[in-house]
Amino acid sequence: MSTQKPDRTVEPISVHSTGMPVATVVLKAKKARPFFGKHPWVLDSAIERVDGEPVDGEVVDLASSTGNWIARGIWNKTSRLRVRLYVFQPEQRLDAALFCARIEQAVALRKQLGLDDPEGAARIVSSEGDGLSGLVVDRYAGYLAVQVTSLGIARRLDIICDSLQNLLHPQGIVLRGAERGLAALEGMHLPEGHYRGRVPESPIFVREHGLRYGVDLLEGQKTGFYLDQRDNRQAAARLARGRRVLDMFCYSGGFTAACSVSGKASSVLAVDSSARATTLARANADLNGASNVTVETSDAFDRLDQLFAAGERFGMVILDPPKFARSRAALEDALRAYHRINRLAVDLLEPGGILVTCSCSGQVSRDDFLVMLSGVAQRSGRSISVIEVRGAAPDHPFSISCLEGEYLKCVIARVV
Ligand code: SAH
Repeated sequence: MSTQKPDRTVEPISVHSTGMPVATVVLKAKKARPFFGKHPWVLDSAIERVDGEPVDGEVVDLASSTGNWIARGIWNKTSRLRVRLYVFQPEQRLDAALFCARIEQAVALRKQLGLDDPEGAARIVSSEGDGLSGLVVDRYAGYLAVQVTSLGIARRLDIICDSLQNLLHPQGIVLRGAERGLAALEGMHLPEGHYRGRVPESPIFVREHGLRYGVDLLEGQKTGFYLDQRDNRQAAARLARGRRVLDMFCYSGGFTAACSVSGKASSVLAVDSSARATTLARANADLNGASNVTVETSDAFDRLDQLFAAGERFGMVILDPPKFARSRAALEDALRAYHRINRLAVDLLEPGGILVTCSCSGQVSRDDFLVMLSGVAQRSGRSISVIEVRGAAPDHPFSISCLEGEYLKCVIARVV
């Protein structure tokens, strides 16, 4: 246990700050439309000039080239997202009360969704989907993991953690790092680790659809667990009965335990290239009494090839790879990689087998992904019937004004 606080590397904004603008950002002509439509990201390329001298993290107003007020947001000249917008009514302050109110609404939604089991886990704040661009908060039983992806939020971390504490009374809050390189792009450095209260070094146990999982809050991937796949694991389990299942890219074995125990699969082979992940997957299988699970540490591409060559066949193959496309430019390469693993998976399926195939690359649209799968059907000579096209669990809402927030695809299909 530790209660150590990290060093401060961003200057906090006072809880008493007025939340009113110190400058006005004026857009170029014909660039205002997305922001009247409440898109929250103002790129530098859309900006004509700044009237005033805002410091990174301070509140600014956004105006059209003709001087019309559009929105209020937070300035960061270091980021490509120069302004993140939070407020679309001129009288609304962007102050501590606003952040508290947004967090309160986010917590209320999870309650409505039935995700308030004190032993459970849920995403409490989903960035733009909860009107809080740059903030992700996950609850694991009595603990919170906070991920900050914008300087404006980093400067308001105490305001945010005070609200979380008042609303949820966590035993501890940890800070988790943003995705690779993102902190540098925002010009911020927030140390990871304990932030408030006490968080155990050992796994925290949470309940999901009647199963138990150990979560490594301090060192695990993402904030510790793939909460976005919660309902997709159950959807896969519904079709797993009596089948031999391959859970490729298993991480801590969420799909594995669900298919083995809830789904009554005949056996599950779980594979991940990370030894840390497979240790967690083994422990979670054992925790749930899943006796028919084999866990292996191997590279997915190699292992899929080997399994095929060895004549192994499965009744269900689950593919949940990491993000293949990190940018628009990487899209073609990513689609080729998706094609390759999905082709290998289809080749491993017996006739009538079930493919559960996911993509968490926001750059790959649902249509791109389905077209990729149609290519796999064509090349493999197999018929693929899509049973379900699913997304992230409902505690991961995305804003209709910021479709970039929709990232997870999970296609469940029958392969004849
Ligand atoms: N299905 C999991 C989440 C998977 S995340 C769940 O429900 O919890 C993607 C996983 O792919 C990570 O655990 C990562 O370690 C693993 N991975 C990345 N590259 C890999 C590779 N080449 N071969 C096998 N696993 C890989």
